[in-house]
Amino acid sequence: MKYADEFRNKIIAEGLARAIAAETDPQRTYRFMEFCGGHTHAISRYGLEGMLPDNLRMIHGPGCPICVLPPGRIDMAIMLAERDEVILCVYGDLMRVPGSQGQSLLRAKARGADIRIVYSTTDAIRIAEQTPDRKAVFFAIGFEATTPPTAVSIQDAEKKHLQNFSVFCNHVLTPSAMHNLLESPDIRNIGRIEIDGFVGPGHVSTIIGTEAYESFAEQFGKPVVIAGFEVLDVMQAILMLVRQVNQRRHEVENQYGRAVMREGNLLAKKAVSDVFELRDQFEWRGLGLVPYGGLKLKQAYANFDAEVHFAMRELRVADNPACECGAILRGVKKPADCKLFGTVCTPESPVGSCMVSAEGACAAHWSYGRFRGPQLRRRS
Ligand code: SF4
Repeated sequence: MKYADEFRNKIIAEGLARAIAAETDPQRTYRFMEFCGGHTHAISRYGLEGMLPDNLRMIHGPGCPICVLPPGRIDMAIMLAERDEVILCVYGDLMRVPGSQGQSLLRAKARGADIRIVYSTTDAIRIAEQTPDRKAVFFAIGFEATTPPTAVSIQDAEKKHLQNFSVFCNHVLTPSAMHNLLESPDIRNIGRIEIDGFVGPGHVSTIIGTEAYESFAEQFGKPVVIAGFEVLDVMQAILMLVRQVNQRRHEVENQYGRAVMREGNLLAKKAVSDVFELRDQFEWRGLGLVPYGGLKLKQAYANFDAEVHFAMRELRVADNPACECGAILRGVKKPADCKLFGTVCTPESPVGSCMVSAEGACAAHWSYGRFRGPQLRRRS
């Protein structure tokens, strides 16, 4: 298949749905986590849950980069933006992410902070070059797929001897979060979720490759199938997971062979390892402190590290207590379990981060009606 439409073919989808139904064992339950928000989006958009057997449940995971940014890091960014000399360069999605006490970058901008929406790291570099009397700070977020451009921007800034460019680094790491989901001490507080296998993220895996999950699959005895983002990709990945579970295998398989290789993208990995190193721990919204869950700039690039340059203080603040984002990001609850879902909290007035980003579980459920549940849809 070459074109996107071919990956949405109804007849093939129905065939895959029949194959999944035929191969699931009615005597057992299958619980698969789609780690990535892109998969959640596809599942919700195409009503995929309604095509799956009742004993096969898809669980949304923490793979939305906006959703997992904790309120403390948003507060830190707001404090940075409120400094007179700073131009904070951010992706537009970040503007409405809630910090503590109802704060957001959007509100800070309304109060006069110089916050500019950028579409790439190149935009941020350009802003630094065009305003030499100010300090441009790029608010870097995201998983392994967005980390290489940040690394290249820092290398670029160094080559250009840019003195007024720095990065507020919030890049996080997928395999660390997958480990944390299954063995975190917070499990006692938030609740344990049983997972039989993972639909692994496609974009992230184009960079880190399938090999990055091998130790995870081995250590936890859980199958991982890396999948693309079209509905047939996800359905095929589910079928591959069903087969692994039935055969008691726990391997890393690659459904997304058209984009992902075992070793990943070596050039991108080299740029990242040149510039970044592991943090001992990093806070994720919903997961708490994740050991080796994030990256920081290496000492050699400290001049470009906003946290060093501006002597930023680490802030940890609690989420809005009424918001269930934490449990949802762990897969313990569904969006409709939150009392605020669709009433106080909607995409127009989000209370939690899961309703802000299009990839967030709450936004996906709200936009595509996934909250109605497969049984209800079948009856209607
Ligand atoms: S509905 Fe809103 S408040 Fe509730 S969990 Fe989702 S984002 Fe948080």
